[in-house]
Amino acid sequence: MKITMVKERKQKPDFTKLGFGKYFTDHMLVMEYDAAKGGWSEPEIVPYDDFRIAPACCSLHYGQGIFEGLKAYKNAKGEITMFRPRDNFIRMNRSAERLCMAKLDIDVVLDALCELVKLEEEWIPTAPGTSLYIRPFMFGSEAFLGVHPSKKFIFTIILSPVGSYYENGLEPTKLIVESELTRASKGGTGEAKCMGNYACSLLAGERAKEKGYDQVLWLDGAEKKYVEEVGAMNMFFVIDGTVVTPMLDGSILRGITRDSALQVLRKYGYKVEERHVPIDEVVEAYHAGKLDEAFGTGTAAVISPVGTIAYKDLIMEINGGKMGKITGWLYDRITGIQTERYPDEFGWVYRVK
Ligand SMILES: *Cc1c(COP(=O)(O)O)cnc(C)c1O
Repeated sequence: MKITMVKERKQKPDFTKLGFGKYFTDHMLVMEYDAAKGGWSEPEIVPYDDFRIAPACCSLHYGQGIFEGLKAYKNAKGEITMFRPRDNFIRMNRSAERLCMAKLDIDVVLDALCELVKLEEEWIPTAPGTSLYIRPFMFGSEAFLGVHPSKKFIFTIILSPVGSYYENGLEPTKLIVESELTRASKGGTGEAKCMGNYACSLLAGERAKEKGYDQVLWLDGAEKKYVEEVGAMNMFFVIDGTVVTPMLDGSILRGITRDSALQVLRKYGYKVEERHVPIDEVVEAYHAGKLDEAFGTGTAAVISPVGTIAYKDLIMEINGGKMGKITGWLYDRITGIQTERYPDEFGWVYRVK
């Protein structure tokens, strides 16, 4: 693989104050697709730098773009691992299919990613809660106006050392149910990790912040009756001792952390249900004193306790606004598997070095 090194590495930020997605490492991975040249180029590692793209670059106009998010860790022995990376590229290929984009050769991309992570090893923070966030993304790069699929794509992976996703760490978040705007609907692109989904969620997010909430809890697009997910996290409730999460039916992102949580919970004997979850059921459970816990799952925050959910005029405080027992147990389990405090019972830990 061709590697062009930077002349001089950047000054590292203070690893105790990383935040999320603010700093980027010295190098990035780039691969270009051109249908006329028979497909993908070899992956290449180059200095992290600006792109030069045409003003008519189609993805700037028509939004043909997808991304992924995963993490790498370094343990006490200096070994580097990633968490379920193959699943991210399988999902990226599904997103690519939905948006008429080029599919990746997963083995080629995984090997190239390992080279990149090894090269940037000194950027992997090791304190609890920190990691190297990996952001693969792809966009249509052909220059034209007129709506049709691009015949050229740029695939890139950038890396960012991150601390906790939320400024206050594992503090329970406050959600507000959105009953007017829609993030995704059946037949749409909700299941794809595509750029447009996030653009269309911004307005509701801003309104939520104005009202003092951290994030939006989305309902189904058609009836606004069923819980879907939280912009970048899948949603779970513990209702009367049973862990309940909305089933995947096309408009919800297939979270890898969601899947990990379900597998871990089932293995350890928790009662788990994947099904439609009416918001009215959540409200009834709350009034009956049976809404025990609520949490979100996603790569960035892993498990995020939810302390408050506002729906219309009702403000539901869950478990006294504190992290619940199952939520805490799950956070410890999954982060423990990721950082190898617990054995890798599911074969999720991928060795880079
Ligand atoms: C990325 C994402 C998630 C979480 O997926 P993970 O694979 O667990 O990181 C959930 N919902 C949306 C909308 C997302 O974009």
